Amino acid sequence: MTTRRTFIRKGALTAGGLAAAATLGATVLPAGAAGSAGPGVAGHGAAGSAGPGKSDGVKISRMFVEPLTIEMDPFPIALGVMTHLDNAFVRIVLENGIEGYGEAAPIMTISGENQQTILGTLNSCREFIVGQDINNYRSIAYTLKSAFWAQATARCAIEMALLDAYTKTLNIPFYRFLGGTENRVETDYTIAIVPAVQAKKEAAELAASGFRVIKTKVGVNLSEDIDRVLAIRDGAPGCGILIDANQGYSPKTALRFINEVVNQGIYPVMFEQPVHKNDLAGMKYVRDNTEILVGADESVFTRADAINIVRTGCADAINIKLMKSCIIEALDIAAVARSANLKLMIGCMVETNLALGCAVHFAAGVGGFEFIDLDPSFDISECPVSGGPVYRAPWWTIGPEPGLGFKSRQ
Ligand code: MN
Repeated sequence: MTTRRTFIRKGALTAGGLAAAATLGATVLPAGAAGSAGPGVAGHGAAGSAGPGKSDGVKISRMFVEPLTIEMDPFPIALGVMTHLDNAFVRIVLENGIEGYGEAAPIMTISGENQQTILGTLNSCREFIVGQDINNYRSIAYTLKSAFWAQATARCAIEMALLDAYTKTLNIPFYRFLGGTENRVETDYTIAIVPAVQAKKEAAELAASGFRVIKTKVGVNLSEDIDRVLAIRDGAPGCGILIDANQGYSPKTALRFINEVVNQGIYPVMFEQPVHKNDLAGMKYVRDNTEILVGADESVFTRADAINIVRTGCADAINIKLMKSCIIEALDIAAVARSANLKLMIGCMVETNLALGCAVHFAAGVGGFEFIDLDPSFDISECPVSGGPVYRAPWWTIGPEPGLGFKSRQ
């Protein structure tokens, strides 16, 4: 087994040479095939920080990584047009036969990761993961963060698989492990940067299918943005409107936009990431000059970022996404937000039901999420695994199955 110390020593090299790792990154490598220390070499180094118990643990015996690519309808936002889901699927197998599943969903302009860097990182993590005791999922996650601190999305897939396998071993659903009592959550649905006529039509359809909050993207063209928001109000007058600028405005343009919307009698439920992620002063300027709630999304990846939001007083809410922060750190971000009386939102990248389902468990299990933006773009048949939380717009419902509730398709 690779110890924490040897992994970090090697990880520092590997992290500096991800391109090399990616060339190694055959898509489905059996555990240990790429590294020197597979599960068979467990004799040395069992004293690594990740393992107190040698005998009563449940070891991870294999880890598989493969790309996950699905075509989608073009989805324009202020950061670009998305046309594909280019994700990765992780499967870990415990020595007791239980499997855990995880998905990484990178958006390069948000996290700096793409499918190739994700596959390189995941394949670089394998030799450390194999041989670890699943009971130590938290210290495993911390070790991965210390080596691959910038690859949160890749690490998220591993944490997802670890926590899925761990809670299956405990024989409880993940949301119950988190302390949840609610087994369902209600999501909004997002309308992209589309012409006003189309936005109105989509809004009317969403209202008719039961959605109570419609999220929309802005941040490219001020007058078109305002027209789109007005069109959504006209199409779905009974729905709340959540607005996301994805960093697209300057502080003053953001203020002009939101004032104009309010002057038209629309009071959005939130105005998300109006300005550049690093411009907390600009975000505070917007927040201080409107009565509409301001939310931080791209500004918050880590708990340290969340502390900065609190310290600068620049937002009323934090949008947590597992792909930005991973699952364990997301718990800390939620705790920081709650401690500071900030509102909680959960969102997603372009994800199949696997990663979305994990976020559904997270929101239901942690509780207190006032804004839930977990709208699926794909059918369950396109998910690498079957089962999981069931979506019937606008609700996600979690079943009694242990873990995340997914099953292998094989
Ligand atoms: Mn956002």
